Amino acid sequence: MDWFDRVPKVELHLHLEGAIPYDALWALVQKYGGHPDVSTLDDLKDKFVFRDFPHFIDTWLWKSQFLREYEDFTFIAEAFARSLEEQNIRYAEVHYVPGEHAIKGHSIARYPKRLNESRITEALRKGLDQVPGVKVALILDICRDIDPEESVDTLNQARDLKELGLVGIGLGGSEQSFPPALFSSLFMQAREWGFNTTAHAGEAAGPSSIWSALNDLGVKRIGHGTQAIHDLELIDFLWKNNIVLEMCPLSNLRTNVVSDLRLHPIRRFFDYDLFVTVNTDDPFMFNNTLAEEFRTLAEFHNFNTQEIQQLILNGIDGSWLELEDKERLKSDFESAPDWND
Ligand SMILES: [Zn+2]
Repeated sequence: MDWFDRVPKVELHLHLEGAIPYDALWALVQKYGGHPDVSTLDDLKDKFVFRDFPHFIDTWLWKSQFLREYEDFTFIAEAFARSLEEQNIRYAEVHYVPGEHAIKGHSIARYPKRLNESRITEALRKGLDQVPGVKVALILDICRDIDPEESVDTLNQARDLKELGLVGIGLGGSEQSFPPALFSSLFMQAREWGFNTTAHAGEAAGPSSIWSALNDLGVKRIGHGTQAIHDLELIDFLWKNNIVLEMCPLSNLRTNVVSDLRLHPIRRFFDYDLFVTVNTDDPFMFNNTLAEEFRTLAEFHNFNTQEIQQLILNGIDGSWLELEDKERLKSDFESAPDWND
């Protein structure tokens, strides 16, 4: 364990279904009688080594067949929270998709239809609460590939889930095919109901997608935002408006958003004084950790200890915690024995 592992951290962009610990999924595979594709835990790990985007979608869906009962969601949520605790991640805002799902135009029931979206959320919360050392807030993701009319129902259900720690609504799915503007009334409604909002933008599509997320959805946080590097006016806007960038460098490398880590704009964004945070996105698929993200930034982009501390504090400031909770968490971090290198 080096300093990057030990230092206290937060995550703002992490997908729960993309962060299931392997041994937890392995236990579920066993529970349901095994699967011919995977005869050992190592086979399972190999299956999730990211190859390309279609493979990513296939394996993402493949694993859903082992989430059959509410107790399975409780089980993975607890294992997930324990994995955060082991990495000294003290607070996380975590995306999840509770319902039927469609990817790239193919409508697919992710979870058995008899499972109710609200009860899936309850089951997840029950598991997360087993690990009091880590606080996890939930972000329900609206999927772009689903007709916005259909997602109205998902949003209506979300309204009753606030007491389960649902603090925000996100926008995921195929960014290149479905522009943010299609979802503007949904996002307006979500904010009227007191939800925070964020949207994936500037990952699989260019600056216009980020502009649209800002102007048509009114979000103050952008998932990734990597492609903003191609638009100086946009960079200026992000800076002036203190827009939080939930950046995920290793995810961008694995999915070929950047061809080389050295080409990732995170260092330039940080030097422009943009509101940069660092996150893992889908550690289960990309085999990364938050510590590794920071270690990589130190190695490839010369981030020093102080700058990494700044990135961690940005994560707290960019979160949707109440102001006093942010201040408390920052002072906890700064007084932690492992805060300094
Ligand atoms: Zn993401």
